[in-house]
Amino acid sequence: MKDKKEFRFVYGPVPSRRLGRSLGIDPLPFKTCNYNCIYCQLGHTRTMTNERSEFFPLNEIMDEVKRAITLKSQNIDFITIVGSGEPLLYSRLGELIRSIRDITDKPLALITNGSLLYRDDVRDEVLDVDVIIPSLDAANQELFKRINRPHKDLRIDRIIEGMAEFRRRFKGQMWIEVMLLDGLNDTEKPLLELRDAIELIRPQKVQINLPIRPPAEEWVKPASSEGVMRAKAILGRAVELIGPQIGDFDLTGVSDITDAIVEIIKRHPMNEKELIKTLKKFAPMDVRNALEKLEREGRARKIEYSGMTFWTYVKSRYGRKSR
Ligand code: SF4
Repeated sequence: MKDKKEFRFVYGPVPSRRLGRSLGIDPLPFKTCNYNCIYCQLGHTRTMTNERSEFFPLNEIMDEVKRAITLKSQNIDFITIVGSGEPLLYSRLGELIRSIRDITDKPLALITNGSLLYRDDVRDEVLDVDVIIPSLDAANQELFKRINRPHKDLRIDRIIEGMAEFRRRFKGQMWIEVMLLDGLNDTEKPLLELRDAIELIRPQKVQINLPIRPPAEEWVKPASSEGVMRAKAILGRAVELIGPQIGDFDLTGVSDITDAIVEIIKRHPMNEKELIKTLKKFAPMDVRNALEKLEREGRARKIEYSGMTFWTYVKSRYGRKSR
Protein backbone atom coordinates (compact mmCIF):
# COMPACT_ATOMS: atom_id res chain seq x y z
CA MET A 1 0.00 0.00 0.00
CA LYS A 2 1.24 3.50 -0.77
CA ASP A 3 2.25 5.94 1.94
CA LYS A 4 -0.73 8.30 2.29
CA LYS A 5 1.73 11.10 2.95
CA GLU A 6 3.63 10.94 -0.31
CA PHE A 7 4.54 14.26 -1.93
CA ARG A 8 2.66 15.68 -4.92
CA PHE A 9 3.92 19.23 -5.16
CA VAL A 10 7.37 18.98 -3.63
CA TYR A 11 10.29 16.86 -4.81
CA GLY A 12 13.95 16.29 -4.05
CA PRO A 13 16.19 17.89 -3.00
CA VAL A 14 17.59 17.24 -6.45
CA PRO A 15 21.06 18.11 -7.68
CA SER A 16 20.76 21.38 -9.54
CA ARG A 17 23.45 22.54 -11.88
CA ARG A 18 23.21 26.08 -10.50
CA LEU A 19 21.66 25.90 -7.06
CA GLY A 20 23.28 22.92 -5.33
CA ARG A 21 20.74 20.69 -3.56
CA SER A 22 17.42 22.15 -4.50
CA LEU A 23 14.03 21.34 -3.00
CA GLY A 24 11.64 21.70 -5.94
CA ILE A 25 8.11 23.07 -5.59
CA ASP A 26 5.81 22.44 -8.51
CA PRO A 27 2.41 24.17 -8.24
CA LEU A 28 1.14 23.16 -11.70
CA PRO A 29 -0.51 20.22 -13.44
CA PHE A 30 1.95 18.39 -15.70
CA LYS A 31 2.99 20.45 -18.75
CA THR A 32 0.73 23.46 -18.23
CA CYS A 33 2.47 26.31 -19.98
CA ASN A 34 2.09 29.38 -22.18
CA TYR A 35 5.02 28.19 -24.33
CA ASN A 36 5.48 24.94 -26.22
CA CYS A 37 9.26 25.08 -26.67
CA ILE A 38 10.74 22.86 -29.34
CA TYR A 39 13.46 21.85 -26.86
CA CYS A 40 11.24 21.22 -23.81
CA GLN A 41 12.48 18.08 -22.08
CA LEU A 42 8.97 17.42 -20.71
CA GLY A 43 7.65 17.01 -24.26
CA HIS A 44 4.74 18.87 -25.84
CA THR A 45 2.64 21.29 -23.79
CA ARG A 46 -0.58 19.56 -22.77
CA THR A 47 -2.48 22.59 -21.52
CA MET A 48 -1.61 25.76 -23.42
CA THR A 49 -2.92 28.74 -21.44
CA ASN A 50 -2.02 32.31 -20.64
CA GLU A 51 -4.64 32.52 -17.85
CA ARG A 52 -3.33 32.44 -14.30
CA SER A 53 -5.15 30.08 -11.98
CA GLU A 54 -4.93 28.43 -8.55
CA PHE A 55 -4.41 25.02 -10.12
CA PHE A 56 -3.99 23.41 -6.68
CA PRO A 57 -5.00 24.88 -3.30
CA LEU A 58 -2.21 26.94 -1.74
CA ASN A 59 -2.76 25.39 1.70
CA GLU A 60 -2.19 21.87 0.31
CA ILE A 61 1.05 22.94 -1.34
CA MET A 62 2.23 24.69 1.84
CA ASP A 63 1.42 21.65 4.00
CA GLU A 64 3.82 19.66 1.87
CA VAL A 65 6.48 22.37 1.85
CA LYS A 66 6.41 22.48 5.69
CA ARG A 67 6.63 18.70 5.91
CA ALA A 68 9.51 18.50 3.42
CA ILE A 69 11.50 21.23 5.16
CA THR A 70 11.09 19.50 8.54
CA LEU A 71 12.09 16.14 7.08
CA LYS A 72 14.95 17.20 4.78
CA SER A 73 16.26 20.54 6.07
CA GLN A 74 19.90 19.39 6.37
CA ASN A 75 19.96 18.49 2.70
CA ILE A 76 18.56 21.69 1.26
CA ASP A 77 20.71 24.50 -0.20
CA PHE A 78 17.90 26.22 -2.08
CA ILE A 79 14.13 26.08 -2.31
CA THR A 80 13.19 26.41 -5.95
CA ILE A 81 9.80 27.09 -7.46
CA VAL A 82 9.95 25.34 -10.81
CA GLY A 83 6.85 24.01 -12.45
CA SER A 84 6.42 21.07 -14.74
CA GLY A 85 5.16 23.99 -16.81
CA GLU A 86 5.31 27.76 -16.18
CA PRO A 87 5.14 28.75 -12.47
CA LEU A 88 4.13 32.39 -13.16
CA LEU A 89 0.77 30.94 -14.23
CA TYR A 90 0.06 29.98 -10.61
CA SER A 91 -2.26 32.79 -9.51
CA ARG A 92 -1.29 32.65 -5.81
CA LEU A 93 2.44 32.67 -6.47
CA GLY A 94 2.99 35.85 -4.43
CA GLU A 95 1.30 34.27 -1.41
CA LEU A 96 3.26 31.05 -1.94
CA ILE A 97 6.54 33.00 -1.87
CA ARG A 98 5.51 34.92 1.27
CA SER A 99 4.36 31.73 3.03
CA ILE A 100 7.70 30.01 2.30
CA ARG A 101 9.56 33.08 3.59
CA ASP A 102 7.54 32.86 6.82
CA ILE A 103 8.69 29.33 7.61
CA THR A 104 12.34 29.19 6.50
CA ASP A 105 15.50 31.25 5.96
CA LYS A 106 16.64 29.02 3.09
CA PRO A 107 17.27 31.01 -0.09
CA LEU A 108 14.45 30.94 -2.60
CA ALA A 109 14.80 30.69 -6.39
CA LEU A 110 12.28 30.91 -9.21
CA ILE A 111 12.90 29.23 -12.56
CA THR A 112 10.57 30.69 -15.17
CA ASN A 113 10.16 31.48 -18.83
CA GLY A 114 9.66 35.10 -17.70
CA SER A 115 6.77 35.56 -20.10
CA LEU A 116 4.36 37.21 -17.64
CA LEU A 117 6.89 39.72 -16.31
CA TYR A 118 5.30 42.27 -18.66
CA ARG A 119 2.48 42.43 -16.08
CA ASP A 120 2.84 44.84 -13.11
CA ASP A 121 1.02 42.50 -10.71
CA VAL A 122 3.23 39.52 -11.58
CA ARG A 123 6.43 41.57 -11.20
CA ASP A 124 5.29 42.72 -7.74
CA GLU A 125 4.55 39.17 -6.66
CA VAL A 126 8.00 37.78 -7.38
CA LEU A 127 10.22 40.64 -6.18
CA ASP A 128 10.96 38.83 -2.94
CA VAL A 129 12.85 35.78 -4.29
CA ASP A 130 16.64 35.64 -3.96
CA VAL A 131 17.35 34.34 -7.45
CA ILE A 132 15.24 34.49 -10.57
CA ILE A 133 16.25 32.56 -13.69
CA PRO A 134 14.14 33.62 -16.67
CA SER A 135 14.75 32.14 -20.09
CA LEU A 136 15.28 34.18 -23.24
CA ASP A 137 16.09 32.33 -26.44
CA ALA A 138 15.19 34.88 -29.10
CA ALA A 139 14.68 38.63 -29.22
CA ASN A 140 12.62 38.88 -32.39
CA GLN A 141 9.03 37.74 -32.68
CA GLU A 142 9.56 35.43 -35.63
CA LEU A 143 12.32 33.40 -33.99
CA PHE A 144 10.51 33.54 -30.63
CA LYS A 145 7.54 31.87 -32.34
CA ARG A 146 9.75 29.25 -33.97
CA ILE A 147 11.65 28.26 -30.83
CA ASN A 148 9.17 28.85 -28.00
CA ARG A 149 5.87 28.48 -29.89
CA PRO A 150 4.18 30.84 -27.39
CA HIS A 151 0.52 31.51 -26.64
CA LYS A 152 -0.85 33.82 -29.32
CA ASP A 153 -1.16 36.79 -26.91
CA LEU A 154 2.57 36.91 -26.12
CA ARG A 155 4.98 39.40 -27.72
CA ILE A 156 8.71 39.11 -27.10
CA ASP A 157 9.32 42.89 -27.12
CA ARG A 158 6.85 43.35 -24.23
CA ILE A 159 8.41 40.43 -22.38
CA ILE A 160 11.91 41.93 -22.73
CA GLU A 161 10.63 45.32 -21.51
CA GLY A 162 8.95 43.58 -18.57
CA MET A 163 12.18 41.78 -17.64
CA ALA A 164 14.09 45.09 -17.80
CA GLU A 165 11.49 46.82 -15.63
CA PHE A 166 11.62 43.98 -13.13
CA ARG A 167 15.42 44.10 -12.97
CA ARG A 168 15.35 47.83 -12.18
CA ARG A 169 13.50 47.14 -8.92
CA PHE A 170 14.77 43.65 -8.07
CA LYS A 171 17.39 43.40 -5.29
CA GLY A 172 18.35 39.76 -5.86
CA GLN A 173 20.23 37.88 -8.56
CA MET A 174 18.82 37.63 -12.07
CA TRP A 175 20.42 35.07 -14.36
CA ILE A 176 19.09 34.92 -17.91
CA GLU A 177 19.18 31.45 -19.43
CA VAL A 178 19.62 31.05 -23.18
CA MET A 179 19.00 27.60 -24.66
CA LEU A 180 21.43 27.55 -27.54
CA LEU A 181 20.20 25.59 -30.56
CA ASP A 182 22.05 24.59 -33.68
CA GLY A 183 21.10 26.71 -36.69
CA LEU A 184 18.39 28.64 -34.85
CA ASN A 185 19.80 31.12 -32.34
CA ASP A 186 23.53 30.38 -32.53
CA THR A 187 24.28 32.49 -35.60
CA GLU A 188 25.32 36.13 -35.66
CA LYS A 189 22.02 37.95 -36.23
CA PRO A 190 19.95 36.31 -33.46
CA LEU A 191 22.89 36.57 -31.07
CA LEU A 192 23.32 40.29 -31.75
CA GLU A 193 19.58 40.78 -31.13
CA LEU A 194 19.87 38.81 -27.89
CA ARG A 195 22.86 40.93 -26.86
CA ASP A 196 20.80 44.13 -27.30
CA ALA A 197 17.98 42.66 -25.20
CA ILE A 198 20.40 41.54 -22.50
CA GLU A 199 22.00 44.99 -22.40
CA LEU A 200 18.56 46.43 -21.78
CA ILE A 201 17.67 43.89 -19.06
CA ARG A 202 21.10 44.02 -17.34
CA PRO A 203 21.04 40.61 -15.53
CA GLN A 204 24.01 39.74 -13.32
CA LYS A 205 24.70 36.64 -15.41
CA VAL A 206 23.80 35.03 -18.72
CA GLN A 207 23.86 31.25 -18.72
CA ILE A 208 24.06 29.23 -21.89
CA ASN A 209 22.31 25.90 -21.73
CA LEU A 210 22.28 23.09 -24.29
CA PRO A 211 19.55 20.48 -24.84
CA ILE A 212 21.34 17.42 -23.48
CA ARG A 213 18.16 15.38 -22.88
CA PRO A 214 15.47 14.42 -25.42
CA PRO A 215 13.74 17.61 -26.63
CA ALA A 216 10.05 17.92 -27.55
CA GLU A 217 11.06 17.80 -31.22
CA GLU A 218 13.57 15.18 -32.25
CA TRP A 219 15.25 17.38 -34.89
CA VAL A 220 16.39 19.93 -32.31
CA LYS A 221 20.15 19.81 -31.83
CA PRO A 222 22.46 21.54 -29.37
CA ALA A 223 24.66 24.32 -30.75
CA SER A 224 28.08 23.14 -31.87
CA SER A 225 31.20 24.22 -30.00
CA GLU A 226 31.63 26.90 -32.67
CA GLY A 227 28.10 28.18 -31.93
CA VAL A 228 28.86 28.24 -28.20
CA MET A 229 32.09 30.18 -28.79
CA ARG A 230 30.23 32.65 -30.99
CA ALA A 231 27.56 33.13 -28.32
CA LYS A 232 30.19 33.70 -25.64
CA ALA A 233 31.98 36.24 -27.82
CA ILE A 234 28.83 38.16 -28.75
CA LEU A 235 26.84 37.98 -25.52
CA GLY A 236 29.76 39.30 -23.49
CA ARG A 237 31.46 39.25 -20.16
CA ALA A 238 28.95 37.65 -17.82
CA VAL A 239 28.25 34.57 -19.96
CA GLU A 240 28.82 31.06 -18.66
CA LEU A 241 28.07 27.61 -20.00
CA ILE A 242 26.07 25.56 -17.48
CA GLY A 243 27.93 22.41 -16.44
CA PRO A 244 26.54 18.93 -15.74
CA GLN A 245 24.51 18.06 -12.66
CA ILE A 246 26.23 16.94 -9.48
CA GLY A 247 25.06 14.70 -6.63
CA ASP A 248 22.02 12.50 -6.14
CA PHE A 249 18.27 12.92 -5.87
CA ASP A 250 17.07 12.87 -2.26
CA LEU A 251 14.42 10.15 -2.16
CA THR A 252 13.68 10.34 1.57
CA GLY A 253 10.17 9.06 2.13
CA VAL A 254 10.15 7.12 -1.17
CA SER A 255 10.52 3.42 -0.42
CA ASP A 256 9.08 1.86 -3.56
CA ILE A 257 11.55 1.60 -6.42
CA THR A 258 8.99 2.18 -9.18
CA ASP A 259 7.72 5.33 -7.40
CA ALA A 260 11.32 6.49 -7.08
CA ILE A 261 11.89 6.08 -10.83
CA VAL A 262 8.64 7.82 -11.79
CA GLU A 263 9.47 10.65 -9.36
CA ILE A 264 12.75 11.21 -11.19
CA ILE A 265 11.71 10.84 -14.83
CA LYS A 266 8.71 13.10 -14.26
CA ARG A 267 11.24 15.94 -13.81
CA HIS A 268 13.31 15.08 -16.87
CA PRO A 269 14.22 12.06 -19.01
CA MET A 270 17.20 10.05 -17.82
CA ASN A 271 19.29 7.31 -19.35
CA GLU A 272 19.63 3.93 -17.63
CA LYS A 273 23.18 4.51 -16.40
CA GLU A 274 22.23 7.82 -14.76
CA LEU A 275 19.20 6.20 -13.15
CA ILE A 276 21.25 3.35 -11.67
CA LYS A 277 23.76 5.87 -10.28
CA THR A 278 21.04 8.08 -8.85
CA LEU A 279 19.14 5.16 -7.33
CA LYS A 280 22.17 3.73 -5.60
CA LYS A 281 20.12 2.79 -2.55
CA PHE A 282 18.62 0.05 -4.78
CA ALA A 283 20.54 -2.78 -6.53
CA PRO A 284 21.18 -2.15 -10.30
CA MET A 285 19.32 -5.36 -11.20
CA ASP A 286 16.28 -4.16 -9.23
CA VAL A 287 16.37 -0.85 -11.10
CA ARG A 288 16.47 -2.68 -14.46
CA ASN A 289 13.62 -4.97 -13.44
CA ALA A 290 11.57 -2.02 -12.20
CA LEU A 291 12.12 -0.17 -15.51
CA GLU A 292 10.92 -3.20 -17.46
CA LYS A 293 7.89 -3.45 -15.20
CA LEU A 294 7.09 0.26 -15.65
CA GLU A 295 7.38 -0.14 -19.42
CA ARG A 296 5.10 -3.23 -19.41
CA GLU A 297 2.56 -1.37 -17.32
CA GLY A 298 2.70 1.66 -19.62
CA ARG A 299 4.10 3.96 -16.89
CA ALA A 300 7.45 4.72 -18.54
CA ARG A 301 8.72 4.82 -22.11
CA LYS A 302 12.10 4.62 -23.83
CA ILE A 303 13.18 7.13 -26.44
CA GLU A 304 16.42 7.57 -28.39
CA TYR A 305 18.30 10.86 -28.52
CA SER A 306 21.90 11.64 -29.44
CA GLY A 307 22.68 7.94 -29.75
CA MET A 308 21.49 7.21 -26.19
CA THR A 309 18.38 5.56 -24.76
CA PHE A 310 16.44 7.67 -22.27
CA TRP A 311 13.57 6.71 -19.99
CA THR A 312 10.73 9.20 -20.00
CA TYR A 313 7.55 9.87 -18.04
CA VAL A 314 4.63 8.26 -19.83
CA LYS A 315 2.63 11.50 -20.02
CA SER A 316 5.44 13.23 -21.95
CA ARG A 317 4.73 13.47 -25.67
CA TYR A 318 7.62 13.94 -28.09
CA GLY A 319 7.47 14.89 -31.77
CA ARG A 320 9.29 12.66 -34.17
CA LYS A 321 8.82 14.65 -37.38
CA SER A 322 11.49 16.64 -39.14
CA ARG A 323 11.20 20.44 -39.19
S1 SF4 B 1 10.80 24.61 -21.58
FE1 SF4 B 1 9.67 25.63 -19.95
S2 SF4 B 1 8.67 27.33 -20.99
FE2 SF4 B 1 9.27 25.92 -22.57
S3 SF4 B 1 7.47 24.61 -22.89
FE3 SF4 B 1 8.82 23.58 -21.41
S4 SF4 B 1 8.00 24.20 -19.43
FE4 SF4 B 1 7.19 25.67 -20.94
